Amino acid sequence: MASAARPHVLRVLLAVAIAAAVPCALSDPAPLQDFCVADLQAATQLDGFPCKAASAVVDGDFFSRAIVAAASTRNPFGVNSTRATVATFPGLNTLGLSITRVDLAQGGLNPPHSHPRASELVMVLKGEVMVGFTTGTNQLFSKVVKENELFVVPRGLQHFQLNTGAGDAVFVAMFDSQSPGVVTPTFSLFATKPAMPIEVLTKTFLVGEDEVGAMKSKFAGF
Ligand code: MN
Repeated sequence: MASAARPHVLRVLLAVAIAAAVPCALSDPAPLQDFCVADLQAATQLDGFPCKAASAVVDGDFFSRAIVAAASTRNPFGVNSTRATVATFPGLNTLGLSITRVDLAQGGLNPPHSHPRASELVMVLKGEVMVGFTTGTNQLFSKVVKENELFVVPRGLQHFQLNTGAGDAVFVAMFDSQSPGVVTPTFSLFATKPAMPIEVLTKTFLVGEDEVGAMKSKFAGF
């Protein structure tokens, strides 16, 4: 009996050891104090922001109207993102969360992009939005999301939001980072400064320099 049970016990111990070795804090690091309202003017550069003096902290540091107003969607994509991250909402500093409001015109698209430091929880406030993400094995998971419904995008994966409804749409995206970051491949490839070497682009897309030039001209103005 003991010899039959032992391999099982060893497997459990191994699983526990592996689990313990995997970092458990996938979002921003846990805060070390009740609050650390960002001092956005501090001269010291940190991974994050230093804290304002506690005596200088006021109610307004924990309040924001950053996403109250709709932003104009009059651009070729029909989208506008309004962010409440630590950069505009200092009370978020060290708390590991932030939120973005996204307005979509009818037919508007939030083009494929990723957030290097956060997963994204989408909640549709108005209209209906197709939300989709792709995986490292090129699977596409997507769903049309309606008012008060949710869709979650795992950290770092490419995703998009397309307005599939009959009018404007609005959703909020909640992040488990005070500064999720955003990487949009179309801009990362065609609108960098300095420009990406032309050979990288022609060989990446298996096209000629004319096609690359046409793509660059589309994204240069943003
Ligand atoms: Mn996103």
